[in-house]
Amino acid sequence: KLEITGLTKCFGTHAALDGLDLHVEEGRVIVLVGPSGGGKSTLLRVLGGLETPDEGRVSLRGEDLPVSESGLLAYRRKNGFLFQQFNLFPHLTALRNLTLPLEEVHGMPAPQAKQTAEAALDRFGLLAHAHKRPAELSGGQQQRVGIARAVASKPEILFLDEPTSALDPEMTAEVLELIQELAEGGQRIILSTHEMGFARAVGDLVAFLAAGKVVEAAHPTKWFEQPQSEQAKRFLSRVL
Ligand code: ATP
Ligand code: MG
Repeated sequence: KLEITGLTKCFGTHAALDGLDLHVEEGRVIVLVGPSGGGKSTLLRVLGGLETPDEGRVSLRGEDLPVSESGLLAYRRKNGFLFQQFNLFPHLTALRNLTLPLEEVHGMPAPQAKQTAEAALDRFGLLAHAHKRPAELSGGQQQRVGIARAVASKPEILFLDEPTSALDPEMTAEVLELIQELAEGGQRIILSTHEMGFARAVGDLVAFLAAGKVVEAAHPTKWFEQPQSEQAKRFLSRVL
């Protein structure tokens, strides 16, 4: 359950989020779609505790987002992130990319971190690549390692900001499949994407954002077939 009321975040005089409201009763996978600059990334950053809002209220699973620095740290620690650009440490192997945050952020002893990391890589068919550095992996493989890293710590919620936008179509499919698998396994996910087919297939709810507001939120089947607003109709006619 997610309740966002009057959420506002300004950069200078520009409101990236402009009194945004969203109420979601239930849904494992929430998909944010909408035109560029609409506020998707900003919303994900606020929900993930990486950015503090100027106004408004967010309650996730019955708890308000923390505001204190220590509260935010703990909150970030129990969630997982992946952004559009590859976020791997370029000088470390895939395995070390996973074990480092497990040890440093989650305080796992090294042997346990190694075991956890190997299990996560194995789960996604990446074990053979454990000792490669990012530059020795394809873009899709890198993004899958990024996801493996994000889920290795068993996050309550996984935040993904356009996880496939830097990938070519084949690698996109590879990453989308993995995300779908996670969703089917029960992982809670909030993601933004420009992949409409994917949004429709994997989302329990689509939220259409434009100019810092949620213009419409509905079940994907309903929204894609019967968008209500002119804005959404125009958006869909351009992207489908
Ligand atoms: P895209 O689909 O292109 O990723 P988006 O929906 O993710 O777009 P945001 O990145 O959230 O949009 O941006 C919303 C608005 O806020 C944009 O006008 C953007 O220029 C502005 N903005 C976002 N981050 C910052 C920042 N750190 N400093 C200044 N302006 C920002
Ligand atoms: Mg964005």
